[in-house]
Amino acid sequence: MAVERTLSIIKPDAVGDNHIGAIIARFEDAGLKIAALKMIQLTQKQAEGFYAEHKERPFFASLVEFMVSGPVCVQVLEGENAIALNRELMGATNPDDAAPGTIRADFATAVSANAVHGSDSPEAAKREVAYFFSAEEVHSR
Ligand code: UDP
Repeated sequence: MAVERTLSIIKPDAVGDNHIGAIIARFEDAGLKIAALKMIQLTQKQAEGFYAEHKERPFFASLVEFMVSGPVCVQVLEGENAIALNRELMGATNPDDAAPGTIRADFATAVSANAVHGSDSPEAAKREVAYFFSAEEVHSR
């Protein structure tokens, strides 16, 4: 299996609920390395650009509104099979469907406030990492 990088976002609900450390511990405990990390307040434009693929979906406006409602933590996770492993740790999009012990089962409150984002393919990971971090800001360890 290849070493991959993937973009993870701890969303405003989980940041506001004080779950940053607990969520990052899930990544580290699973063997993923934090290769980059920062807390930022997304602008409307940044949030719209990040979720551009969803712009025709009925939930787009509320998703953007939620993502700018408070600071987020963005991090690059690195490790074997990092993209799929992160998706597994996150659990299903709707926390009601998320397997027990996943981040969304434990920390999300609704599909619209579901604690974390994670890239869902190698192409998305590449685009999303570059959306938030320059090459110099990502550290292989
Ligand atoms: N979302 C929502 N309502 C829906 C479906 C999705 O608010 O009915 C939001 C949710 O926050 C989700 C994001 O849109 O995380 C992106 O949706 P996607 O299907 O890509 O899910 P993910 O990859 O985040 O699991």
